[in-house]
Amino acid sequence: MLDLLITNATLADGRTHMSVAIRAGTIVEVAAGLCAPAVQTIDAQGYLLTPPFVDAHFHMDATLSYGQPRVNQSGTLLEGIALWGELKPALTQEAILARALRYCDWAVAKGLLAIRSHVDVCDPRLLAVEALLEVKRRVAPYLDLQLVAFPQDGVLRGAQGPQQHLDTLRRALDLGVDVVGGIPHFERSMADGALSVKLLCELAAERGLRVDMHCDESDDPLSRHVETLAFETQRLGLQGRVTGSHLTSMHSMDNYYVSKLIPLMAEAQLHVVANPLINITLQGRHDSYPKRRGMTRVPELLSAGINVAFGHDCALDPWYSLGSADMLEVAHMGLHVGQMCSPAGMHDCFDAVTHRAAAVLGLEGYGLRPGCHADFVLLQARDPIEAIRLRANRLQVFRRGHCIAHTAPAQTALHLSGRPDRTDFCL
Ligand SMILES: [Zn+2]
Repeated sequence: MLDLLITNATLADGRTHMSVAIRAGTIVEVAAGLCAPAVQTIDAQGYLLTPPFVDAHFHMDATLSYGQPRVNQSGTLLEGIALWGELKPALTQEAILARALRYCDWAVAKGLLAIRSHVDVCDPRLLAVEALLEVKRRVAPYLDLQLVAFPQDGVLRGAQGPQQHLDTLRRALDLGVDVVGGIPHFERSMADGALSVKLLCELAAERGLRVDMHCDESDDPLSRHVETLAFETQRLGLQGRVTGSHLTSMHSMDNYYVSKLIPLMAEAQLHVVANPLINITLQGRHDSYPKRRGMTRVPELLSAGINVAFGHDCALDPWYSLGSADMLEVAHMGLHVGQMCSPAGMHDCFDAVTHRAAAVLGLEGYGLRPGCHADFVLLQARDPIEAIRLRANRLQVFRRGHCIAHTAPAQTALHLSGRPDRTDFCL
């Protein structure tokens, strides 16, 4: 006897009339037209059943703090960092916990069940680290939260001095933070940035951890930290375990240089995370017209065989005044900014917030295959392209075979003579 049988589902790869059988929180079979006795059977009515959304890049310590203590006037990354610095002394663990848990509620409602969040480790009290480790424990039954030790003020530049910052970062890892972060473009010089990449990659190699650095998040065409990140990854044998986040400078780089850089990144098996909502908002702020878009070269990186995912990055914080944990909104923006409008490009954008993001996190048991966790989302859409177009309603969200959120089907009643009495925007 199965615990749950989903019938008549469409999968992201285009297969229709599919059944998914679940026992003890695990998918045991995926087959067309499968019928079997189950405690509960759900007719998916031909809608899209997908593994949950995954956010490969977020800042949960800052989320939902918009307007505290004031709003970012210039809209730049640098004013956002300064504003976060103003807020930090007033932070309490209770406030971080309450805001983060609220965001996780939104995430579950939107079918977002795994998040990689950076957490600022420049505060020697490690207040945010302790708060987010508590959040990680509390949400574990329904959401995988992976934490990155992120030295927001620069591990070499920060006010405490390099030794203190490295020690604090190590203590955060000792407490259970999962991944080593960094911010080389914010260090004082290109040389210091490169040194920070070297030191932090060595620390990750020593401890057998993954790396995810904010890298080249600027419009500077001469920023070269992703080259260093690829080099250190190769040198230390970290292939497949290192992520370059943002890489917005690649948007502005010389094309000849990029033609050398991308193969080096592919050779090091770097993962790349673009953050379309934030990149299109923060980049190009020093331009008059034309204004650069700033997002990294997503289609070109994908063509080179590099894993590219999209992150939400920010929601209602010093850097971004909107956001609702909706990874389909992120995919929608990525599609537009990257001009990924072909059918294959649109599917790539859906993958960037599902499978490709899961690969960045190194999630185990992710997917709609026998042996995977019974985690999935039923969307009110017939395929991934329609899901992005509609930022589709999440009809049901499942974790380990249990429904943890559901939303009534969206439809609007029409009062028009000679026209149908309702529409749901699906074709
Ligand atoms: Zn970030």
